[in-house]
Amino acid sequence: MLKGRNGIIFGVANKRSIAFACAQAAAAQGARLILTYQGERLAEGCRELAASLPGGAIALPCDVGSDAALDAAFVAIAAHMPRVDFAVHSIAFAQKEELEGEFVSTTRQGFSVAHEISSYSLTAIAQRLLPLMPEGGALVTMTYLGAVRVVPHYNVMGLAKASLEASVRYLAADLGPRGIRVNAVSAGPIRTLAASGISDFQSVLAVARARAPLRRNTDAAEVADATVFLVSDLSRGITGDVIHVDGGFHITTF
Ligand code: NAD
Repeated sequence: MLKGRNGIIFGVANKRSIAFACAQAAAAQGARLILTYQGERLAEGCRELAASLPGGAIALPCDVGSDAALDAAFVAIAAHMPRVDFAVHSIAFAQKEELEGEFVSTTRQGFSVAHEISSYSLTAIAQRLLPLMPEGGALVTMTYLGAVRVVPHYNVMGLAKASLEASVRYLAADLGPRGIRVNAVSAGPIRTLAASGISDFQSVLAVARARAPLRRNTDAAEVADATVFLVSDLSRGITGDVIHVDGGFHITTF
């Protein structure tokens, strides 16, 4: 499905990262890939993961926390990949203390960091992708039900995801005329590094497992397969949308 296509997967921390599952699924469909990691601490692990993919992949640093770091990352990306067909944004961050206790205690700084890293970064990446996608392309981001429902301890990250989902719609409207589609996958809870920062995540998994129509938790490979669909031509008529890969949990009330 992705033979001859060039893609960038942002946000590989380790082998459990949804980003890495996306890389595996896209590589299996024939894509040439660049994987990005946040900083030097993750460099070696990400290089090893990139090398483990069929056909291999390039690993590059990309910290979305500053315009200078993003600009530098895109200079390196363009040197390796002058034409990009798709990109997957799989990045989020909120300080640990914002993901415990009550939402009402959210600090100004915690609010700002969560929104900047988890939401604004999609737009910042889209801006820099434009020159690399002159003939169109696809951009997919990862969101969560906490954007539209109250999930215990998800707190300010729920607001950041709501902003991210709104960004998907505004970006889709702007970029559609240029042939660039923008969508989100809303994943069910999955045990990853990012999820380990959420208090009592165990209960979130248990409730999802008990109530989802499929009566089980979602895994990263399922999210990755939907992502491959969204960056492939099979989804050519879909943009500005949020597709749930959560065993149907979002349709339930009790
Ligand atoms: P993860 O920890 O493996 O991935 C999060 C990534 O964000 C990491 O690679 C981390 O390095 C990166 N990141 C954080 N700050 C960054 C910065 N300043 N610059 C660049 N990268 C930065 O965890 P994950 O669960 O795979 O998360 C990937 C995405 O999936 C996130 O958007 C997350 O909110 C979303 N998601 C996760 C779940 C879940 O239950 N795990 C559910 C729904 C959505």
